[in-house]
Amino acid sequence: MAKTALITGITGQDGYYLSRLLLERGYRVAGLVPLHRQSSLAKLGSLASQIEVCAVDMRDSAALLAVVEQLQPQEIYNLAAPSFVPDSWQDPLGTLDLVTGTATRLLEAVRLAGLNTRFYQASSSEMFGQVDRSPQDENTPFRPMNPYAAAKLHAHWTMVHHRQRYGWFACSGILYNHESPRRPPNFVTRKVSLAAASIKLGLSDRLEMGNLDAKRDWGYAGDHVEAMWRMLQADEPEDYVIGTGQLHSVRELVATAFECVGLDWTRYVVVDPKFLRSDEHFYLVANPEKAKRQLNWEPQVSFEGLLEKMVLKDLERLQSAEVPSIAQIEQNS
Ligand code: NAP
Repeated sequence: MAKTALITGITGQDGYYLSRLLLERGYRVAGLVPLHRQSSLAKLGSLASQIEVCAVDMRDSAALLAVVEQLQPQEIYNLAAPSFVPDSWQDPLGTLDLVTGTATRLLEAVRLAGLNTRFYQASSSEMFGQVDRSPQDENTPFRPMNPYAAAKLHAHWTMVHHRQRYGWFACSGILYNHESPRRPPNFVTRKVSLAAASIKLGLSDRLEMGNLDAKRDWGYAGDHVEAMWRMLQADEPEDYVIGTGQLHSVRELVATAFECVGLDWTRYVVVDPKFLRSDEHFYLVANPEKAKRQLNWEPQVSFEGLLEKMVLKDLERLQSAEVPSIAQIEQNS
């Protein structure tokens, strides 16, 4: 019989790639989507018709329990979060409630339903915060620096406590930045891919950037969701650091994206100090050795391959007027 997977945050970037992977592997896939966010289902395109949608408010413990009892999922992937970190400063309590509250309510729903559901918690490298060593691995201490990271850490420990107390199969994937053509343009990778495509098509003539020397470990979302799935298929429930292990600067990001469309980035990029982030921390980079060794997981898409995917998709979207150009986005913001 097909396994059932229940996903929160199914309408997000990872929700899309994870649903696609699970459907390809024969799962019955269900997603928790609150009533007021149902319009987000459009982001799933044709996948939307292949999943079961449960209209549940993440704050409603009784409704979560009812869904878990009804679906009896073999696997739960808890992905819902306001994933753009700076937004968490606008609503620290709402962030805590969504991130930690949802993890806790779901874990409790599994306990009350008496199921053996395998549980994946979407943790983040932001939990390492202001690091004093590079690269980071599963033993690196956590020093979260913002409300998002603090909420993620609380959710992580709640999952660990349930695993220890009840002997459950629950895991945390501590994921580094992962991108795709599905990233919104407020993330730097997508901002750059959209700008390169817009300039190539003559829809814009410049790109404003902040600190070009900032460095990140950027992977491909399709690779990272594969790691999530492998964690839940393993013999033992363990937490894993998931990233490429490679650092690239924003300068390299811009140069590579513009190279995809045959442009010299130095002619178009303007460095504007207003885009500098005050809590910038450098050298947040994964040591994914444990995932390689125990899950046989390795990223399949290179940094260059990722940017090519993103820029080509943005070219296609702009040509069919599916998205506004970077110049239009800047005008309206
Ligand atoms: P995403 O694209 O922003 O998706 C977030 C999902 O959460 C969306 O489905 C969103 O719904 C939902 N959501 C947001 N606020 C909600 C609320 N108040 N109630 C219910 N649902 C809500 O994020 P992602 O990139 O797929 O990331 C997936 C998970 O991995 C997140 O937990 C994120 O924090 C974590 N993570 C991501 C990265 C990364 O680089 N992508 C790295 C480390 C960890 P809408 O579609 O309606 O907005």
